[in-house]
Amino acid sequence: MAVKISSPAAVFPGTFAEGRQRFREAASAAGATLASRANPERGPDGGDLSTETAWLGPKDASRLFFAQAGTHGAEGFCGSGIETGWLQSGIFEQLPPDTAVLLVHAINPYGFAWVRRVTEDNIDLNRNFVDHGKPTPDNPGYRELRNSICPDEWSREGENRNRAQFQAYAGKHGAWALQAAITQGQYFDNEGVFYGGKAAGWSNRTMRAILKPHSDHVRKIAFIDLHTGLGPYGYGEIICNHLAGDPGTARVKDWYNDATATDDGTSTSTVVTGDTQIAITDTIPEAEVTGVTLEYGTLPLEEMLLAVRADNWLHVHGDLENAKGKEIKSQIRAAFYPDKDDWKKMVFDRAIDVAERAMKGLTQS
Ligand SMILES: [Zn+2]
Repeated sequence: MAVKISSPAAVFPGTFAEGRQRFREAASAAGATLASRANPERGPDGGDLSTETAWLGPKDASRLFFAQAGTHGAEGFCGSGIETGWLQSGIFEQLPPDTAVLLVHAINPYGFAWVRRVTEDNIDLNRNFVDHGKPTPDNPGYRELRNSICPDEWSREGENRNRAQFQAYAGKHGAWALQAAITQGQYFDNEGVFYGGKAAGWSNRTMRAILKPHSDHVRKIAFIDLHTGLGPYGYGEIICNHLAGDPGTARVKDWYNDATATDDGTSTSTVVTGDTQIAITDTIPEAEVTGVTLEYGTLPLEEMLLAVRADNWLHVHGDLENAKGKEIKSQIRAAFYPDKDDWKKMVFDRAIDVAERAMKGLTQS
């Protein structure tokens, strides 16, 4: 399909507020029904925070193309640009019958505005969708490495010691086990990284509330959660959200021939617990969901994790206003949003391609 957009790089915003404004404008121009849900927090500039939704197509459609941006706040620059670009591109102009599009902008608006992966409760939203009434998964590797992952002091000498601990752990258990220990999620350290929380946070509840009104008519969903931070620079990896054996895995492989999976070693991501797709299967249990995470590479893994750990240290122990604080904030922004035209073009072209394949799978299979 011809895409009516002259400069893909121009759709990516510099701030949360700019992204939200452009999304609203693009959604209005596309004739979408817009809604806004206010987050109780404020941004670093004192501005209000909210999650926007845009709905295109019949209100009672049974087939739904559903994409979400900013699950991890700092990754929202990318997701916001993609959603605005999709709306401007015209790819949703002539929807197939009985098919609607739902775009959720900044499901974690606090993290987007403050340039953090996590929410206002320091929760990694993509680990928060577990049943908090039941025992949550343990993460012994994280427990063992906790003081190196989240040190009290942030210094070059300290980081050399931390790195030695990581290398020793990787030497014993493998590099993959090290990545899993840090990133797969943990439910006990509320001042740590990749923390899944002790209850459903605002973004979790908001995502469910957005979906709930559609539970009576939507029966088939193509879900794309937009992320950044893993994989080669600018490449969009299509990661299957289903585990092996789930019928969704076969559909993902059928719709996207280059999809990877977290449980067979083909993905750059480890298996995560409590991801956003659970909100869909919980809220619309009768729907057949075919879900993927579209994960765009930015920096090498080690640099990305360093930025996340530094940002965690900053918000627990540091000062956002001093030089060190400002340096850490620019480091985490760069780790999740390479603000470069070549990266944006790669990201956008891939996003169009993935959206077209999702729409085809949703309506033709
Ligand atoms: Zn992410």
